[in-house]
Amino acid sequence: MKKVITCIVCPVGCTLTVYEENHQIIVEGNQCKRGQEFGEKEYIRPMRILTTTVKIKGSLHKRLPVMSDGEIPKDQLTQCVQALYKISVQAPIIRGDILVKDICHTGINIVASRSMKAD
Ligand code: SF4
Repeated sequence: MKKVITCIVCPVGCTLTVYEENHQIIVEGNQCKRGQEFGEKEYIRPMRILTTTVKIKGSLHKRLPVMSDGEIPKDQLTQCVQALYKISVQAPIIRGDILVKDICHTGINIVASRSMKAD
């Protein structure tokens, strides 16, 4: 099965065509090696860094920006976002604080993207 994918590794945004032939993954349309790697990964199992916000208590702001400290399988992103929607953290928070360990058994942690003082 051929997949047409936009490479998101750099701003050039090459259009990649990825398919399997003789048990090998073929990537076409990439202008560099990074696109080859991205195309292969994307074909086998797409992964993404998760960025979203969570509720925070005791701060001037109502939501805290958070991100994953590694890539999460794309097909588990919705499940992770839903899990994060249910949590609430308490200020103060320091950027990089681990807020959720091993989110949805992915082995990846969710960390604060910025610090937030208590009000
Ligand atoms: S294939 Fe290379 S040049 Fe093209 S978008 Fe990907 S990283 Fe950039």
